[in-house]
Amino acid sequence: MITLQGKAVCGGVAFGKIFILSHSETVIKRRHVESATDEIERFEKARARAETELGALYEKAVKEVGKANAMIFQIHRMMLEDVDYLESIRNIITDQMINAETAVGLTCDTFVQMFESMEDSYMRERSADVKDVSERLIRILEGKSRCAVVSDEPVIVAADNLAPSETVQLDKSKILAFVTAGGSANSHAAILAKNMNIPAVVGVNGLIDPEYNGRDAVIDGFTGTLYIEPDDAVRAEMRKKLDEALRQKKLLERLKGKASVTKDGKHIAVAANIENVQGIAHALMNDAEGIGLFRSEFLYLESRAYPTEDTQFEAYREVLTRMENKRVVIRTFDIGADKRLGYLQLPNEENPAMGLRAIRLSLKRPQVFKTQLRALYRASVFGNLAIMFPMITSEWEIDRIIEIIDEVKAELKSEGAAYSDSVELGCMIETPAAAIMSDALAKKLDFFSIGTNDLTQYTLAADRQNPDMADYFDNKSKAVLRLVDYVIKNAHQNGLWVSICGEAASDASLTEALIALGTDELSVTPDAILPIRQKIMETDAAAAAAAITKEILS
Ligand code: PEP
Ligand code: MG
Repeated sequence: MITLQGKAVCGGVAFGKIFILSHSETVIKRRHVESATDEIERFEKARARAETELGALYEKAVKEVGKANAMIFQIHRMMLEDVDYLESIRNIITDQMINAETAVGLTCDTFVQMFESMEDSYMRERSADVKDVSERLIRILEGKSRCAVVSDEPVIVAADNLAPSETVQLDKSKILAFVTAGGSANSHAAILAKNMNIPAVVGVNGLIDPEYNGRDAVIDGFTGTLYIEPDDAVRAEMRKKLDEALRQKKLLERLKGKASVTKDGKHIAVAANIENVQGIAHALMNDAEGIGLFRSEFLYLESRAYPTEDTQFEAYREVLTRMENKRVVIRTFDIGADKRLGYLQLPNEENPAMGLRAIRLSLKRPQVFKTQLRALYRASVFGNLAIMFPMITSEWEIDRIIEIIDEVKAELKSEGAAYSDSVELGCMIETPAAAIMSDALAKKLDFFSIGTNDLTQYTLAADRQNPDMADYFDNKSKAVLRLVDYVIKNAHQNGLWVSICGEAASDASLTEALIALGTDELSVTPDAILPIRQKIMETDAAAAAAAITKEILS
């Protein structure tokens, strides 16, 4: 049994096989080999495996997309038999006594150059196929698989790191749990795992070893431990934990339909954070009182081009309709930083977390922003919509946003399109500047939603993505809680309601403090709704307020 330790992100226990997921960019390590014959044999094994994979993909594609579209996999298979391609690989191994991965990489470069210089456009396009086949071979040789879960049964996905765009594109039905070598508990990939409610562990040293691929494992998402080929004692212990988690879940079921009211009668709404329309089912199943944060950027991350106004409209309408008249807060796209998109062609930045992100990008590309706002306002007649803006730092941004909204409304009016006049507007308070200026921002808006993830990152200057910063990234710190207090006071003095939608809201050990600071709503990952409701029901708001004044504010 091998035990690897990381940081727990999302509780739960999962038993399954490990599947090592590789990224699209492969860095090949050139290595000297002692025996060319052995290396060629290793290559031949990889080639046979690639053939099998492509055969399976062809069969699957024929069923799903028809014979003509599936042909591409046959072309790839043929390439694996191409005499010139194979001879080049074998010759490089023999002449240079180097590893097969390097030989495939060098052959690939030569063939790609050759195809790309051809007149015929059909032949030029074949260069992409050579790359594809070569990458498959290299990944197999490295003991990895392509950036998709290729398995008949659900697996424990292990990766060096996962970007949000990669996470959303994975076939969720194939994933039992996530384990990553890098990453931090506050990264967006970790938040996605929480939303999927599957065990997740990050920061596991020594995870990416091709040897582990396909081996039996069990993951303990509560302690952040991965056991590879667990012994009987660990299996039994994990089964017990799993049963206990299910028992706890059942106990919480009885809180469905109950009001989230403190012992002394204060109602704190418990809403859900969701990433896409599918998240609604999960939110409703857990008795969400509304949607406190719909991260609309995932609509953009899930597609290969800008989602059209109609695509967005359909998504927003569905969310609003299914939530009936419960409030739905949709955040305009927060793209940038770690949420990057090829088709947006964002410039490379030295410091993306402090760069062209969220509202800054919206204001820089007003047409894209307007498309989203048009879709939102058109959908507004189907429910109780509130719109909020991410990464606000200054009052002028709100002024500019309101000008754009007025233009959008005027356009819709002139087209005869219906929209609601009672859409509330709010902003995320997730930068220290917004918190400090919350008295002034409050004069222009209807509500605030405090994003403790970024507020912690920017206040404490601790990168939320960086596992080495885990000790510094402390959303329980006095500095952050004092800002939360200041924001809530400014909001209430100006008649605004306040929600907290960062991960701090889902952390039951912080519920008392956040109630004490006066929040009106906690917007949490759907599975945290009932545990947080339970915590609210156990809290005496007045006593908690007195304690927090003593501990944190004075
Ligand atoms: C936050 O920053 O707290 C927040 C809720 O936004 P995100 O996690 O999507 O950056
Ligand atoms: Mg944020």
